[in-house]
Amino acid sequence: MDFAKLASKYKTPLYIYDFDYISAQFNSLKEAFHARKSLICYAVKANSNLSVLKLLGRLGAGCDCVSIGEIKRALFAGIAKYKIIFSGVGKDDSEIEFALRSDILMINIESEAELKRVEKIAEILNKTARISIRVNPNVDAKTHPYISTGLKKNKFGVDVDTAKKLYIYCKNSPFLEPVGIHCHIGSQILDIAAYSEAAAITAELLRNLKAIEIDIKFFDAGGGLGIRYKDEITIKPYDFAQAVLANLSGTDVTIVCEPGRFLVGNSGYLLTKVLYEKKNGVKRFVIVDAAMNDLIRPSLYDAYHEIEAVGKSDGAALADVVGPICESGDFLAQDIMLPPLENGDLLVVKSAGAYGFSMSGNYNSRPRAAEVAIEGGKDRLIRDRERFEDLIRLEKEYL
Ligand SMILES: *Cc1c(COP(=O)(O)O)cnc(C)c1O
Repeated sequence: MDFAKLASKYKTPLYIYDFDYISAQFNSLKEAFHARKSLICYAVKANSNLSVLKLLGRLGAGCDCVSIGEIKRALFAGIAKYKIIFSGVGKDDSEIEFALRSDILMINIESEAELKRVEKIAEILNKTARISIRVNPNVDAKTHPYISTGLKKNKFGVDVDTAKKLYIYCKNSPFLEPVGIHCHIGSQILDIAAYSEAAAITAELLRNLKAIEIDIKFFDAGGGLGIRYKDEITIKPYDFAQAVLANLSGTDVTIVCEPGRFLVGNSGYLLTKVLYEKKNGVKRFVIVDAAMNDLIRPSLYDAYHEIEAVGKSDGAALADVVGPICESGDFLAQDIMLPPLENGDLLVVKSAGAYGFSMSGNYNSRPRAAEVAIEGGKDRLIRDRERFEDLIRLEKEYL
């Protein structure tokens, strides 16, 4: 990738996504499930750009959405309504209503109270809500605590016994139709045993439901497939598929999965320009024009992103890469090896395609970065750089 050319054409900080990589990741996962009916619902929150959604939609993906905004994005990008799932632990009445009116595939229910709300709203609209219930299997995904979601102490889902009770409730309600069973235990998962264990627990519930004539059509194994940021050994799509399928022999369910990071994480680069270097005592800082508002993962989760100096290699020494924001937590990397750098040099932050731009903000009144897609060797702008006018657009006349 010609980062120098992209920097001069689009300026920095700049997000760049390799669309061919996203396609290849999607196809490898689809292929892993080829023996079964499957639906890959891309987790929109990982990277919500409409062009990314459109690309995945063309490949056959559905969308896993966690807000009405994400459902609107998915519909806007042309994703078929029968491929859209609505997940999330807190859904507002207006969101539930919109989801029901949009006639999406199913709503993932995360609590008894939520189920009752959905029933009530379905009754008012005189509709039958297709739902699935998110089971919290109390399985340790062995990932960062902030992105672990399948333990009893997490806010997500309901335990197996409660889930069964809720399915029976659905069966007796004219406004609820249980069509799916759902489980998502966390993100950046590298341990195949966690998937096997969660799938086993969920599949047992599936069979118990079948025994009482609750016929579930969609088995949603969640997302969370880990990627390589540094030297992680990741789960292969085939092994993931086997861990799920091994528990489903003799059933006729459609397998659903909800990968986000796996599809887009390593497609993305955050390109940033060096402003200058400075030293405080022995500590070396490389100050760049991207910051925690552009990529919050290092600050939030202590996440590691590989950083490379474009076109330079000699004389590397330890440095922190920091942004201009007025927080000591504003760093993109700490204690990494970098060659001597000066104003105008470029750094590329890798593995930035997931939870990068989508978690970005405007802190310190910084306009968000532009986004560029590379496809078949050609680059194109898929989101403009924000301008100052965008930042103040919703503010009222000051007095
Ligand atoms: C975030 C999330 C995903 C995607 O997680 P990844 O680690 O990006 O694959 C899938 N399903 C649900 C319900 C989520 O909240």
